[in-house]
Amino acid sequence: MNTKITAVYPGSFDPPTKGHLDIIARASKIFPKVIIAITENYNKHHMFSLQERVDMMKESVSSIKNVEVDSFSGLLADYLINIDSFIVIRGLRALSDFEYEFQMALMNRTLNQKIETIFLMPDQLYTFLSSSMVKEIAGLGGDFKNFVPDAVYKRFKIKNNL
Ligand code: ADP
Repeated sequence: MNTKITAVYPGSFDPPTKGHLDIIARASKIFPKVIIAITENYNKHHMFSLQERVDMMKESVSSIKNVEVDSFSGLLADYLINIDSFIVIRGLRALSDFEYEFQMALMNRTLNQKIETIFLMPDQLYTFLSSSMVKEIAGLGGDFKNFVPDAVYKRFKIKNNL
């Protein structure tokens, strides 16, 4: 058994929400080290640049000692090999997440048999929350303060002149 397991939590985090933070807190209690791996995905239109997402995430998790923030482009399976990890953390909010997550997990395992994907469920307060929902509410003038970490709220308001 590997006693120094590093788990990787990949995602676009555009922007990080309290749902993401809930999953990170849970993962950090299970694994000695958790790396949040932020994707530079050119197929998706992001509100925040990779650097902005990395900075917001770093500020949001600064109090959790065993969590680091990194970024990658290309295949997650290749990134995992580079950092010598085989554990992927993903969050499951509802049944609707399942099909996509199941496909991704099996594809990653097909690319590398060693990869295990661990699904964690957030507090039920966050099961309806997504980054796109936050952007939509903010865009329509709604109050999104309770859905995101303070560091994200501040940057979000500056970026969008709110
Ligand atoms: P991706 O583009 O990879 O789906 P996201 O940043 O949207 O990136 O999500 C990253 C991971 O976090 C996914 O596993 C997603 O299901 C999970 N996630 C997103 N929002 C929440 C939430 N409110 N509660 C729990 N998990 C979440």
